[in-house]
Amino acid sequence: AKDAGGTGMQFFSAEMSIETKNRMALELDLREALERNEFVLHYQPRICLDDDVPCGVEALIRWNHPSKGLVSPAVFIPIAETTGLICKIGNWVLQQACKDIQQLTERIGTELMLSVNVSPVQLKSPTLCSEVSGALQAAGMDTHRLELELTESGLIEDTDASHQLLRNLRTIGVRLAIDDFGTGYAGIAYLRQYPIDVVKLDRTFLCPTAKADNCLDFIKAVTEMCHSLGMRVVAEGVEDADMLRQLMRSACDEAQGYLFAKPMPLAQLGDYIIDRRAS
Ligand code: C2E
Ligand code: CA
Ligand code: CA
Ligand code: CA
Repeated sequence: AKDAGGTGMQFFSAEMSIETKNRMALELDLREALERNEFVLHYQPRICLDDDVPCGVEALIRWNHPSKGLVSPAVFIPIAETTGLICKIGNWVLQQACKDIQQLTERIGTELMLSVNVSPVQLKSPTLCSEVSGALQAAGMDTHRLELELTESGLIEDTDASHQLLRNLRTIGVRLAIDDFGTGYAGIAYLRQYPIDVVKLDRTFLCPTAKADNCLDFIKAVTEMCHSLGMRVVAEGVEDADMLRQLMRSACDEAQGYLFAKPMPLAQLGDYIIDRRAS
């Protein structure tokens, strides 16, 4: 029995060490990635459901790794968060996205909302607020056009500092959104404790088939609650026309997902918006 246990342990630690090595290698590369200019932003449009027109875009970071190719943020953002690199990366995202969206505005002639994801780790940084206003100023962008997407886990710690930070951001004029709503364990009391403008329903909220009636009732009820609290509701991960039909019936305000467009580089985004307006 002792032998078998020992073998099990050895096998387990060998597996671990490969994973740990990979992670450490990636972490080392990540430290250089900013200086080497390896990050790119892609943008996914958000469609207003009342007029079927793109009214905003979400910036989503990608890492163009020299040997691995495009690395998903789902892989490297968690590493960036545990190492603290996320603050520098997050600031780059803010700067770049604001510049990009100004360039887009010049090209298409209309102003869109820009959503930027903010990690819970960034919410603890005392410089976040000045970084946000710095990025807006450098790009010459109107503060009311920037929306920060926060996750529930970032708001779980109901501290004076986090209240103050969110109030300060609101004072600058930026909008605050809750990302992945309904997937965390935060309850919903924070919706009235914090000055939230937008709720993004995670795709797990959407019903798999149109037949799931009480599922539609559920979306309707959540949307109604958010509206009565003065918040807009955005559905994420909308992949098919069936889901869109459900959302239209639920009075949801905006939708985002592969049904409309996948995240894409800035130049392509401009073409998409121009095309979509023409049709
Ligand atoms: P998220 O903020 O919830 O972003 C939505 C994710 O869903 C994106 O994945 C997007 O490409 C994907 N998506 C969009 N439409 C659909 C759809 O119809 N179906 C499905 N199945 N997926 C869809 P992506 O770009 O891989 O980003 C993953 C996560 O990485 C993001 O989730 C966000 O949490 C994080 N992330 C991305 N960019 C940044 C960033 O600049 N800063 C921070 N802190 N996190 C970021
Ligand atoms: Ca997001
Ligand atoms: Ca989300
Ligand atoms: Ca997510």
